[in-house]
Amino acid sequence: MIYRLDKNELNLDESGIKYGFIDGSIDFNPTSPEGKFARKEFLDILSEDYSYEVKQSHGININVLDEKFKENAKNRRSFFDNADADGVFTACKGIALCIRTADCVPVLFAGFQGKTAAVVGAVHCGWKGAYGGIIKNAVYMLANKFAIDADAILAVIGPSICKKCYEVKEDFLNLFLNQNSLNINFFQKKIEAGKNKIFFDLKSYIKNELVLNGLNCRNVFDINKCTMENEDFFSYRRNKTDKRQVSFISITMSNL
Ligand SMILES: [Zn+2]
Repeated sequence: MIYRLDKNELNLDESGIKYGFIDGSIDFNPTSPEGKFARKEFLDILSEDYSYEVKQSHGININVLDEKFKENAKNRRSFFDNADADGVFTACKGIALCIRTADCVPVLFAGFQGKTAAVVGAVHCGWKGAYGGIIKNAVYMLANKFAIDADAILAVIGPSICKKCYEVKEDFLNLFLNQNSLNINFFQKKIEAGKNKIFFDLKSYIKNELVLNGLNCRNVFDINKCTMENEDFFSYRRNKTDKRQVSFISITMSNL
């Protein structure tokens, strides 16, 4: 199943964008033998020319694809880039930018010129990337490489672990407090079964990063699905799975 925001909340019909968050019905684990088939099935469903994935190493690098990508891809339709990156942006049509997750946060971006998307992007955002500044990098890239104003950027947060499920340790909390004491707002201390526990709201931390870097909060959306609670999605914390769901965005070649 492909999840999207309700059209009353976000209608992208005139934007030229195709996007979505696919649940565990397709496993995008790059190392499984089924992976190749999954990518073919994915492209058939989407009817885009190419899929493109970055390595995803919990860093803050972001790749840019230009028209040369299509020359290099030649007959290959599914492209896996081994360069160290956790996000990708492109102004080219027909390339589905893909992020694989199982609790981490997929963030899809679109930069608008008028009503249509001039550039789209997909970013893998776990706590390390978020803490390290990948959101800032993404917004900087949209401004400097694609000349998109911050208030013309749309961001959609996909299925990922929620604040009720993301338990962390004291040293994790301290790391974030050392960065900024206001980060305390993204943590909650609770007593559960007689134990002191700390929970982190990664999605709100990311939303805050988006707004701090200039996005209008009305252009920041959340599909509001928790991967750990909803068994339609893969969750590393639930069962240490190697399986990964895919989130995608493209400037589409096909009719919407
Ligand atoms: Zn949850």
